[in-house]
Amino acid sequence: MTSTALPASRIAFIGGGNMAASLIGGLCAGSAPPAIAVADPAEENRARLASRHPAIAAHASNLDAADGAGVWVLAVKPQVLRTVCGELTALAQERTPLVISIAAGVTASQIDRWLGGGQAIVRAMPNTPSLLGAGATGLYANARVDTAGRAAAETLLATVGRTAWVRDEAQVDAVTAVSGSGPAYFFLLAEAMAEAGEEAGLDRDTARLLAAQTAFGAGRMLAESDEDAATLRRRVTSPGGTTQAAVEALESGGLRDVVRRAVAAAAARGRSLA
Ligand code: NAD
Repeated sequence: MTSTALPASRIAFIGGGNMAASLIGGLCAGSAPPAIAVADPAEENRARLASRHPAIAAHASNLDAADGAGVWVLAVKPQVLRTVCGELTALAQERTPLVISIAAGVTASQIDRWLGGGQAIVRAMPNTPSLLGAGATGLYANARVDTAGRAAAETLLATVGRTAWVRDEAQVDAVTAVSGSGPAYFFLLAEAMAEAGEEAGLDRDTARLLAAQTAFGAGRMLAESDEDAATLRRRVTSPGGTTQAAVEALESGGLRDVVRRAVAAAAARGRSLA
């Protein structure tokens, strides 16, 4: 990854849990890692991060980590975010850092209000595969984020996968519905394929292995190919062949409509939780 788009000043992680650890790992794996501070009240989290990445500064106090940092990554659970912002309001008003929040379901305008207003805020919606560096992250920037701020946020989240910007914050609900919740859709499909494989005569372990590895392989082909999903599907579907028989069964069974309803349900749920 390139860290050229990251600012020269320090990056502070507020919250040093799973997602922060992945992002810090991604940043530290780069050729020119930025200076990093992390704050977490849990001593064991600080110790784990500091032993893995000796160059980072681990603090018990959010203010100590945030002070002097040009980028704050808010990586705490949504339910503690308001309190955390309250601790940082005075410093935010003094410094106006770039604030990147990865907290699910908390809007940029809520965070802006909690930090006293006038802040440059990027809201990022990563998904669980980010923990393995294979994430998909939707990004939204409020009007105060400049080009450099957008580039910095994109570079940071790109250390754990691929990123896409949305223009309108309401679209974050759609991001949540497609990529945020999406890994579960593929898990469900793999589960169903393994069950069907057993019914077709395979033993359970073999059916699970084949379904899981097929999901992995198809995902890799999608990620690494320049072709879209429909083209890749057509390429593996010979007329009159086994795949065509299966795809026709999926289509006539209403797979597209089921997926459309699933994504709409997740987006509606996201809106109601906001
Ligand atoms: P986590 O529980 O692993 O990390 C949260 C950390 O915050 C913990 O280490 C905790 O000790 C620390 N913390 C608690 N109170 C604090 C405080 N007052 N000040 C500073 N730190 C405090 O959770 P996570 O999975 O890393 O998730 C972090 C954020 O990322 C959440 O808001 C979540 O919605 C979002 N997110 C996570 C995922 C995922 O797959 N894990 C996906 C998308 C979004």
